[in-house]
Amino acid sequence: MNHRHEQAPAHDPEQEAMILESLDRFLAQQVKPHVHQLEHDDIYPAEIVEQMKEMGLFGCLIAPEYGGLGLSTTTYAKIIERMSAVWMSISGIVNSHLIMAMTVQRNGTEAQKRRFLPRFATGELRGGVGLTEPDAGTDLQAIRTVARREGDHYVINGSKMWITNSLHGNCLALLVKTDTKAEPRHKGMSLFIAEKGEGFRVSRKLEKLGYKGIDTCALDFEDYRVPADCLVGGAEGKGLQHVLGGLELGRINVAARGLGIAQAALDEAVVYSQVRKTFGRPICEHQAIQLKLGEMATRTQAARLLVYAAAQAYDRGERCDMEAGMAKYFATEAGQENSLDAMRIFGGYGYSKEFNVERLYRDAPLLLIGEGTNEMQRIIIARQLVERNPA
Ligand SMILES: Cc1cc2nc3c(=O)[nH]c(=O)nc-3n(C[C@H](O)[C@H](O)[C@H](O)COP(=O)(O)OP(=O)(O)OC[C@H]3O[C@@H](n4cnc5c(N)ncnc54)[C@H](O)[C@@H]3O)c2cc1C
Repeated sequence: MNHRHEQAPAHDPEQEAMILESLDRFLAQQVKPHVHQLEHDDIYPAEIVEQMKEMGLFGCLIAPEYGGLGLSTTTYAKIIERMSAVWMSISGIVNSHLIMAMTVQRNGTEAQKRRFLPRFATGELRGGVGLTEPDAGTDLQAIRTVARREGDHYVINGSKMWITNSLHGNCLALLVKTDTKAEPRHKGMSLFIAEKGEGFRVSRKLEKLGYKGIDTCALDFEDYRVPADCLVGGAEGKGLQHVLGGLELGRINVAARGLGIAQAALDEAVVYSQVRKTFGRPICEHQAIQLKLGEMATRTQAARLLVYAAAQAYDRGERCDMEAGMAKYFATEAGQENSLDAMRIFGGYGYSKEFNVERLYRDAPLLLIGEGTNEMQRIIIARQLVERNPA
């Protein structure tokens, strides 16, 4: 198996500083004041999405020749980290979209790149990835959605579950079976760029513990027709390969989100612990709280180093499957642990909907599940360790 991936564009520190500065301004002025209400009322942040389009965020990894910003993975990870620290849902709106876009940039035919990437970059076509089904998540080869060729179209029937950006978006990278009898099973799997149309139906928006505002839905496909030239790469049987080729970037994505949550929980705790007094002293002077702050800060910094190291390895075009897996595993656990520690530090107020801490606590667990569960990450890390170190 070839573990090398297409090298990402060169890292440009000056460009990065400029982009992060304007992003921070946008997050502070246009997002932060609205998060509380949008999140608690589960309202889709339509205006914020429009502003993110104008900033070019939907094209930040797409190559300049196709209308994107062509940023390095390192800069991208920092963008996601910052967005997630303010509101994880808006990072998801960009993340899932770019996972779809990158399947075309990596595997599409030249005609597909010219047709789709400029529209993905502006956000005119916006969406995510449709892999999971009611009966298949981790075991993707068990999917049952089928595409049958009819002339110059494929006719798709089946159901998808947990598909992010599928209500407000208009397009998906859709994983299907083009041959249900193929052995091994992945040889019968194909990926389509599926724009919404007749037969592509959102059956319901799913209610979630956290990650609110962003739309995650169950979908039904009933004789949905997609033009044959939307088959990514133009050849059947490569769908799973195309999806797995995006895993490293996907894991760096999710790791950066975990890092953002870990940092946000730490920031909340550091401020609150200086303001809240018990027994005549700010609680940050009690050793029990200091132990927590010390652990939270160390965890956050360790997560940051793992995320940036994986992103930098990716930018150099090096193999980084294990590194991205470690970053995903550690940084998302750090997000989860810090959000609970922040809640403990806040005491009763941590449990109140008035404060950000309860949102961080509800958002964090998704990251333990998405983009390969953390159970699977550890198993994959162990397998790679053995593969790289034969006895
Ligand atoms: C809010 C949200 C948004 C999502 N967005 C998307 C999206 O946009 N697109 C999309 O396609 N999917 C999406 N998903 C789905 C997500 O990717 C899956 O939930 C995830 O892949 C896990 O699959 P599953 O839920 O079917 O769990 P299962 O695969 O049923 O796993 C259940 C448990 O068994 C464990 N397990 C499974 N197999 C093994 C094994 N071989 N060895 C050891 N343990 C194992 C798992 O680690 C887990 O603990 C989303 C999910 C959520 C909750």
